[in-house]
Amino acid sequence: MKKRIAILGSTGSIGTNTLDVLSAFDSGFEVVALSCESNFGLLARQARRFRPKCVCIGDGVRDLSLKRSLPSGVRIVSGCEGLREIASRGDVDILVLAISGMAALPPLVEAVRTGKRIALANKEALVSAGPLIVKLAGKNGAEIIPVDSEHSAIFQCIEGKRKFLSRIILTASGGPLLDISSKKFDSLARRDILKHPKWKMGEKITIDSATMMNKGLEIIEAQHLFDVTEDRIEVLIHPEAIIHSMVEFLDGAILAQLALPDMRLPIQYALTYPVRRGGRAAVTDLSKIGKLSFREPDIRKFPCLELARAAARAGGTCPAVLCAADEEAVSAYLDGRIKFSGIPKVVGRVIARHKNIKREGLSLGDILRAGEWAKEEARAICCH
Ligand code: NDP
Ligand code: MG
Repeated sequence: MKKRIAILGSTGSIGTNTLDVLSAFDSGFEVVALSCESNFGLLARQARRFRPKCVCIGDGVRDLSLKRSLPSGVRIVSGCEGLREIASRGDVDILVLAISGMAALPPLVEAVRTGKRIALANKEALVSAGPLIVKLAGKNGAEIIPVDSEHSAIFQCIEGKRKFLSRIILTASGGPLLDISSKKFDSLARRDILKHPKWKMGEKITIDSATMMNKGLEIIEAQHLFDVTEDRIEVLIHPEAIIHSMVEFLDGAILAQLALPDMRLPIQYALTYPVRRGGRAAVTDLSKIGKLSFREPDIRKFPCLELARAAARAGGTCPAVLCAADEEAVSAYLDGRIKFSGIPKVVGRVIARHKNIKREGLSLGDILRAGEWAKEEARAICCH
């Protein structure tokens, strides 16, 4: 039986890598739905190649030529409702969630409600609403398989041994600013900060890698995926980005997953799990790499790491506020409204103003409202 796949965010970095992974398999998978926010030219090309039944476009797309460039009979849906419709379709076995930012939260909720396998690349949704997602997934038999390379590594290392887990060692390449003095951050051009030394990714996550908010969000992501408290998740700088993360067991043994940095490997594993197949991911030659090095992160230089740890400990609506404030601050930086050093400042100020709502059973509405509030606060701070 073919596995039926929907890819939300198919025009992005993870989305296009997912389609590349699928191209390597001549059978076994069928693409049912694709989506973009505004890049409908690429979406139409993907639709002609993969023949989905349905595509979703952003609400802002008004160009009717899309319809003409799609194969006939393809259903077109739009906006948040369209994403939710795809996420809840009965003819989808695996939902690849590759939208960036908190816009992924409503479709993620739909996918867990309808008991699907979710190949989860997006991190902001799980960070914002971890307890709600985990609870709904458990209740409805949904399976969340991480695509984020660190979490895929952890998932692969703890398979069958989860109850003996003592500590997670989350590796970080350190991003483009690892060896640059923080005094120079604001004088760097945006295009240089957008040049990640190891990964080619979308703009939001690349800026998050530069501030190390990405690693902070990954701490919270790991908390929910693997049911561990923040104090048992260590961050370790590993500039070569060959070890994608490690786990330590009760007896002190450490297991790691290694490979060249290539997202096609964790994407493929989330699609084929528990089976492993040959595919398109690059072959790793350790003798060419020579050495692997490690160091501690500099938390004074990268304050976002500590902001995220504090949000992880606080729980409640705090992680959603962290995510939303960061999303707004990154967008303000990319638009030239604030300096690079303003990103952690904006996030810190929004969190300081937030009255955390912490109770059992926070609803999706509570979380979305906290996120909207945080975005408005961050926008106001960015204007002054
Ligand atoms: P990209 O920016 O490359 O792609 C984002 C995708 O989502 C595009 O298809 C985009 O459409 C669509 N999109 C953007 N905003 C919205 C919105 N508001 N509503 C609906 N669709 C939207 O991002 P990445 O592929 O790099 O990252 C996607 C997610 O995966 C992020 O959460 C990131 O943190 C996570 N991730 C990414 C990794 C990577 O290697 N890239 C690694 C680990 C995690 P359009 O093209 O039309 O703008
Ligand atoms: Mg990652």
